[in-house]
Parts: sequence; structure tokens; C-alpha cells
Amino acid sequence: MKAEISVMVIIVLVFAASSSISAPAYIPRFEDFAILIHDVSPGYFEQLREITALIDTYSLQNATYLFVIPNHGGGMPLEDYPAFVAFLGRLKAEGYHVELHGYAHTGDEFDCNASTAEKKLELGLRVLSCLNVTPEYFIAPRYSLSEDALAVLLSRNITVIGEDFVYFPNGTVEPVYNREYTWYLPSPFLDYQLASARASYAHTGGTFLLSLHPKAVNNDAGMEFLREFLGFLKTCEKRNPLNGLG
Ligand SMILES: [Zn+2]
Repeated sequence: MKAEISVMVIIVLVFAASSSISAPAYIPRFEDFAILIHDVSPGYFEQLREITALIDTYSLQNATYLFVIPNHGGGMPLEDYPAFVAFLGRLKAEGYHVELHGYAHTGDEFDCNASTAEKKLELGLRVLSCLNVTPEYFIAPRYSLSEDALAVLLSRNITVIGEDFVYFPNGTVEPVYNREYTWYLPSPFLDYQLASARASYAHTGGTFLLSLHPKAVNNDAGMEFLREFLGFLKTCEKRNPLNGLG
């Protein structure tokens, strides 16, 4: 009997621990949701115009984070594209957040040692300074990041957003709900993806992060998903720990 009780206690403890580990955290800075646009680079200027025009119509500029590649492929330094820099400057003035997404975005470039990470970060920060931006957030290309590179970023007071966790400079790590529904979404899957995203948003107690890639989202079903889902986000009253009923 005693043995049975201890087994039960263990099962309950394991369940409690695993559910608290997997439950997405509520990140006050982002409130209920944030839109993360990856691969912001002059190579996707037209696509980014289209995406941000849609975000503007829902007045979600303040909830949108632009993850900029400072020198895409090593041959597209932002400073050589003044029209694109001006475009980012206008978005920033409208309330969009300008953040950092690697440096050249070649391979797993931040899966590297500390000194390489320092160098790439320094180059990236220098490029963003032309926009008077000091990024608060970083997403590694392919979410690929060594422990050393992570330590470098955190030591510079930059919060790192991963696929499943957010790493804060104070050393805390929170599980996060971060999903992309629009990776070359074929039309027959539109309704399914919308239903899935709505249900996930409604049922997650934490912050919902919607990741997007220019070009991958700029097809009929992708933009239609975005149009419908942003409309849903604007109208869906969600309870959260700060403004909820609890
Ligand atoms: Zn990327």
C-alpha cells in the first residue's frame, strides 16, 4: 500500500513537472501575442512591403518585430540599400520593432565560438546603428546557436528567442509558443491551419508568437491566412495574467 502511494506521488510529481515545463510562459513585454518577421533583408523588399501593408491595416505595428539580416549572404550590406533602410526607418517610426537576425545568415553561423559570435554581433550592431537601433531581441538563423554564442548575446543584454524557449539576459529561460503556419501554405490546407492557429491561440495560457518568412508567406493562401488570423487576433478577447478575470 505504501509502495503504491509512493508510485502515485511520483507519477503526480512527474506530471506536474512536465506540464509546468511545457506550458508556454506569459511574457509581459509581448502581452498576448507578437508577430516575428524573419529574414528582413533588401532581397525581400517587395514581399515585406506587402506583409507590412497588411499589418498596418490591422494596426498591429507595435506587436510586430522585424528580424533584420544585416548583410544577407555576405553580399547585401544594408548600407548599400538606402531605399530599404529608409523603409525600415519609416516602419520603426510607425511602431515596428527592429531587431537582429544573425549577420550574413549563411549556414549555422551562430553555432560558433565566443570570439566569432562577438565579431558577427559587433558587425550586426554597427549596421543597425544606421537606423539608430539597439536591438533588444535576437533570433539565430535556423535557430542554431552554440552555448558560447548564447552567452555572448545575453551578456550584451539581448534576449534570444528560440523555437521553443526564450532566453533572458538575467539567466531565466522560459518555454514559449512560437509557430509558423505559412511556410508555402497550399490552399487546401488554409482552413486547417487557421483552425489550428485559432485553437492554439485560444488555449495557450502564455504568449503566442507568430513567426513569418517573407516569400514563404507571400502566396495566396499565406496572405489569406495572415489576413484572417490578424483579424481574429484583433477581435479575440483573451484573458491573461495581467488583464484577465483571475
Ligand atoms: Zn532566417
